[in-house]
Amino acid sequence: MAELLEIQQDEEKKLIQGAYRKLLRTMPADMEKLDRKNIRMAYELAVEAHSKQRRKSGEPYILHPIAVAKICAEEIGLGPTAIICALLHDVVEDTDVTLTDIREKFGDRIAKMVDGLTKLDAAYTTDSHQAENFRKVLSTLVEDVRIVLIKMADRLHNMRTLGSMPREKQLKIAAETSFIYAPLAHRLGLYAVKTEFLDLCMKITDPETYRDIAQKLKQTKRGRTDYINEFTAPLIARLELLETPFRIIGRPKSIFSIWNKIKGKQVKFEEIYDLFAIRIILDAPPEKEKMVCWQAYSIVTDVYRPIPERLKDWITWPKLNGYESLHTTVMGNEGRFVEVQIRTERMDEIAERGYAAHWKYKEIKQQQDTYERWLDSVREMLEDPNLDAVEFLGDFKANTLFSDEIYVYTPKGDMKVLPAGATALDFAFSIHSDLGYHCSSVRVNNRIVPMGHKLENGDRLEVITNKNQRPSEDWLKMVVTGKARSKIRSAMKEERRRQGEIGREALTRKLKNLKVEYEPSVELLVRHFEFASHIDLYFEIAMGRLTIPNIFKHFRVEGTKLVELEKIVPEPNKEQEDGKPSRASKNRYNNKPRLMVNGELADEYDYSFATCCNPLPGDAIFAYVTQTAGLKIHRINCPNATNMMVNYGYRVMKAEWVAIGSSHFVANLRITGIDNGPGVIEVLTKKISSDLKLNIRAFSIKGDQGYFEGEVSLLVSNADQLNLAIQALKSLENVSSVQRFE
Ligand code: MN
Repeated sequence: MAELLEIQQDEEKKLIQGAYRKLLRTMPADMEKLDRKNIRMAYELAVEAHSKQRRKSGEPYILHPIAVAKICAEEIGLGPTAIICALLHDVVEDTDVTLTDIREKFGDRIAKMVDGLTKLDAAYTTDSHQAENFRKVLSTLVEDVRIVLIKMADRLHNMRTLGSMPREKQLKIAAETSFIYAPLAHRLGLYAVKTEFLDLCMKITDPETYRDIAQKLKQTKRGRTDYINEFTAPLIARLELLETPFRIIGRPKSIFSIWNKIKGKQVKFEEIYDLFAIRIILDAPPEKEKMVCWQAYSIVTDVYRPIPERLKDWITWPKLNGYESLHTTVMGNEGRFVEVQIRTERMDEIAERGYAAHWKYKEIKQQQDTYERWLDSVREMLEDPNLDAVEFLGDFKANTLFSDEIYVYTPKGDMKVLPAGATALDFAFSIHSDLGYHCSSVRVNNRIVPMGHKLENGDRLEVITNKNQRPSEDWLKMVVTGKARSKIRSAMKEERRRQGEIGREALTRKLKNLKVEYEPSVELLVRHFEFASHIDLYFEIAMGRLTIPNIFKHFRVEGTKLVELEKIVPEPNKEQEDGKPSRASKNRYNNKPRLMVNGELADEYDYSFATCCNPLPGDAIFAYVTQTAGLKIHRINCPNATNMMVNYGYRVMKAEWVAIGSSHFVANLRITGIDNGPGVIEVLTKKISSDLKLNIRAFSIKGDQGYFEGEVSLLVSNADQLNLAIQALKSLENVSSVQRFE
């Protein structure tokens, strides 16, 4: 027995050393001696510290930090400092090693970074509000971007190895990843990481569709490769004449983006023509980059006819996340549209690795500026004391993570970058907050426009002010940028504070009479009525919408404290106002299906099925604890699921169907296709009734110019049966799409 254990330990030792050697191989050969020594020291410390720990999968824990370090080096392109931190990223959190130990061994900078990583971890495990977590992530981001990059590598490795985690945990991690990390990866220009995040999330939340598309991609690979070869052959011949080294790749788009296309355009996989993009990557010195890219463009468009409106020049105007490339779409053989991306090796590296790669090219000014500008705007938002976490998150996601941008000019000709959709008022605030507060109108290209006027690329703007002008609530509807919103909000808040003074005084008197402590009581009231701040509470009292007698109905006095009689918490999904199960969800089943919730029969719970996604037995589901309507059962791919899991993770419970009996459920399908004769209705009903032996509850169809759209309600006993029906209907010759809807 002892011998066996020894053999096993030996094996593991080899495994760990092997992983470490592979990590070292990803590092540059000319690495400084000191760096090499420190990496070795970090590795040894981590091995020792984690020696008693295992991952959920059973393998030694240390393999995780080694893998994270390898992702940092190989896929994100980070240097020795980050590698050391990655190796140490879990030791303070999980072992006896302290931050002081790390500071002594590796110095202050590394200790600070490891501390940042530990804090991010704590934010995640303690179920605190995600908006707050996100703020933490961003604070570390402005402190040292590398901390967030290492965290991304950590998250990526965890996502790749999520298999041995319980399902609910997988779903929560996936929700957080798609909510925070994927957008952030996008913003930092880590294109490859972002794409993998989204694919891995989809694999968890929608495994069947994921497998389906993955398989179809595999099946069509040959045809695609042939097409790409045929398409590129004439290009290669001409590009060779340029005497600039180049390579061409033709890669399929990600599964997630293909799925988005299928959903968005309601088409079949087979009908998506742009499953791949061709990329021409040229190896040119900095001073020739732009020129050779345009030469290549000219070659491509000599051979194939371009679609003029699809030309995108992100070389002259790089995206805010640093992306540079020349895109065009041309008409290829067999009348297929093909997207061609033209860029240099440097641009390609930045496109794939984003922020990390940009350090490598920091002598190129433009790159530096785009990130600095962005980080400055993040810093500015973080420092704004008026923005609470939820508002912050909303603003941040809306305009610093996703948006495209436009370029406009001041009267002096200085360029300003604003997110697409920005208005004249946004521009005023972007120059100076005083200019914003007193803005009365704006001249765009010498024409006076209202403040809410949407700006276009290249506009020249001049702000006209009036010293009596004041921001009002309506202004919030006229701006899109976080800066303007937050400035207007803080002006409004100041106004509310002023008006709420009377409310504050009334409440103070009442609390004095009751002889309860002021601060804790007000805290409790704010929480009880779910106000964002004291100011809102005072304001509502001042406006008479919340009266003092009404407030104290919900409380009794105990000594110097107020105590709640009952707590009212509104549900986040506002599908029902009265809190009772809706008629629809009651009547949809002739026999309420039985459930297991957290491993127990849910019969004694008050549960009902959410009307936002109408789950069917067999669908992957979860239970959500509402405050007023018992348990709500949602589908895992419910449109509200991410929000619930991310913001109210502690209310989410695991739910499963109990062996499905003979009861029937209503499922709705929307069928579209080509109507080339009078027989469509007959064909569909025959398939459903005679072939599939399903009952039709309702059926409607409308057609126009050879195209039909039908809606059919079926009685099915479970999701498998429904999926079979969908497959069968899809296989009909005239049918182009079949979608479940509620
Ligand atoms: Mn970790």
